[in-house]
Amino acid sequence: MIIAVDFDGTIVRHRYPKIGEEIPFATSTLRMLIQDRHRLILWTVREGELLDEAVEWCRARGVEFYAINRDFPEEDSTGEGYSRKLKADLFIDDRSFGGLPDWGTIYHRISEGKALEADWGLLTSGEVTERERPGFFARIFGAK
Ligand SMILES: [Mg+2]
Repeated sequence: MIIAVDFDGTIVRHRYPKIGEEIPFATSTLRMLIQDRHRLILWTVREGELLDEAVEWCRARGVEFYAINRDFPEEDSTGEGYSRKLKADLFIDDRSFGGLPDWGTIYHRISEGKALEADWGLLTSGEVTERERPGFFARIFGAK
């Protein structure tokens, strides 16, 4: 899969323009995803020096991205057919609807081929198992 990964708030705690501390298991998960032959794209607002720092920070932890802020390394933004929309299969971003699950959950869901199934939120609570999960309206209206 082609997986776009945000940096601030996703791999590290949000301290932009500084680099925050690592969010637990982010880099070990990214290394495992690379090992599993997924293509990772770093997808961040960082540019110039701030971008270089982030790339270096990841590289020092064994995370080498296939491409950075583009679909593939040689992509030319002035070329014919170029679109600024990234063509990734999956985006891992703390601003995603439903929020960012923990990295263990992210890895397992991707490995199981279930990364795009919409049962986010409940996966991270640790309190509700698949079987106990209330139905949609029960959750909204608080019925048991
Ligand atoms: Mg972010």
